[in-house]
Amino acid sequence: MTAQREVLDISGRQVSESAVRRFEARLGGRLLHQGDAGYDGARSVWNGMIDRRPGLIARCAGVSDVIDAVRFAREQEMLVSVRGGGHNVSGAAVCDGGLMVDLSPMKGARVDPSAGTALAQPGLTWAELDREAQAFGMATTGGTVSDTGIAGLTLGGGIGWLGRKHGLTCDNLLSADVVTADGRFVTASRTENEDLFWGLRGGGGNFGIITSFQYRVHPVGPFTGGRAFYPFDEARETLRFYRDFSMEIPREMNTIGGVRTGPDGLPDITIGVCYNGPLEAAQRAVAPLREFGPKEDAIRPREYGDIQSMIDYATPPGVHYYQKSCFLDTISDELIDVILDHFARVTSPRSGVFFQQMGGAMRDGGPDAGAFTHRGAEYDLIVSSAWEGPGDGEAHVKWARDLARAVQPLSTGGIYVNGHSPESGGPVDQARAAYGASYDRLLALKGKYDPTNFFRQNLNIPPVASR
Ligand SMILES: Cc1cc2nc3c(=O)[nH]c(=O)nc-3n(C[C@H](O)[C@H](O)[C@H](O)COP(=O)(O)OP(=O)(O)OC[C@H]3O[C@@H](n4cnc5c(N)ncnc54)[C@H](O)[C@@H]3O)c2cc1C
Repeated sequence: MTAQREVLDISGRQVSESAVRRFEARLGGRLLHQGDAGYDGARSVWNGMIDRRPGLIARCAGVSDVIDAVRFAREQEMLVSVRGGGHNVSGAAVCDGGLMVDLSPMKGARVDPSAGTALAQPGLTWAELDREAQAFGMATTGGTVSDTGIAGLTLGGGIGWLGRKHGLTCDNLLSADVVTADGRFVTASRTENEDLFWGLRGGGGNFGIITSFQYRVHPVGPFTGGRAFYPFDEARETLRFYRDFSMEIPREMNTIGGVRTGPDGLPDITIGVCYNGPLEAAQRAVAPLREFGPKEDAIRPREYGDIQSMIDYATPPGVHYYQKSCFLDTISDELIDVILDHFARVTSPRSGVFFQQMGGAMRDGGPDAGAFTHRGAEYDLIVSSAWEGPGDGEAHVKWARDLARAVQPLSTGGIYVNGHSPESGGPVDQARAAYGASYDRLLALKGKYDPTNFFRQNLNIPPVASR
């Protein structure tokens, strides 16, 4: 039994001690108070810049814990945050005060190879789900860094190596089990609670806590992938080449190109690729990258898990990160010039600017395929500022913001809900930019499923009633 420690509700009042004790006694998982062993580990997320202290952390063991956590927080009027993989750059998974609903212990997965489906709990990372699906030579579209959580990534859309062939991650979502803001358990799919199912596919964490995802998984492989590196002194020509090359690739292939500082401390241009299909066809598809004359070429046949983790080393947990994203219809010559001009003043060797390619099957769905509204874009531009904290964060944040502002007029105006650090009073309304044409429909859905804005630690759509 834990001794009483201060746990406050949203108005700053002490939460009833007996209610905390009753909640703790019912939990299958653990309830962590400030100062408990494991508390600091549980509140740490990928972005080392985030240093928030929830009043309580509910380490959920299963669906009943999630339902109890929602009911407890609602009764006690507590602020709530939801943690899946804890990888979102904004740190929205952790609240200051309040209750953090920590789903990371929920790591069950079951792949049914004959049905081509996978059931996955929300604490899984992509490495963990990929491993289960790869046991059967299968996969669904995931992200491109292996320790990213499946939950947040799916709810925001999900852009990955397999996307041009198999669509966004949310396009592969068949159904989801959801605990709603009033503590009800519902299933959302194309035939049940269809409106909620639409909102979950791109609407972020605004509508409930997903306790299980059912995905379509596909037979995949063999794979060819890796990265080619090009000297910086021809950066302009190389980025123009990357644009032209990437516009011609087949759906079996996807790319990430960009500018960064290499391990030797020198800037370079990097082009990462993944080809899902016969090795000979892959060789033909990557030939132009070789003909353009890389200084280093690490593209070769690889296991899928190897491709999914090949850029992990560049984004270790605990480093301080500040990120901006915007969607692009094209990589114009002007955009390349703006990026290179700003990169000449980059403030940290860990920072970089990357084009994550979209297109192909990611473009295929119409408005009813879900709330993700940026299907027409060709790339997500990621401006990533990263530094060993905590000193001098201001200069690094400013570098990313300045660059993001400079490229904004050359973008579609849309931003990726999953790739954005918060910026109050910035030049764009972030929620409108993220949810775009789906915003009004999402607003109505928020009014139906979460009229009091119980789930507000996210790129929030405040319901009209709560304003
Ligand atoms: C290094 C790196 C690489 C990345 N690469 C890609 C990529 O290739 N493609 C891509 O699309 N994205 C990518 N992302 C972005 C990624 O999609 C987001 O960071 C995403 O939020 C991670 O999910 P998570 O579960 O780890 O998030 P968390 O930080 O745990 O949660 C983020 C938010 O999601 C919501 N949420 C999480 N779990 C649930 C749940 N079960 N129910 C309801 N709401 C929930 C909550 O609102 C929470 O605040 C990358 C991010 C990083 C840092």
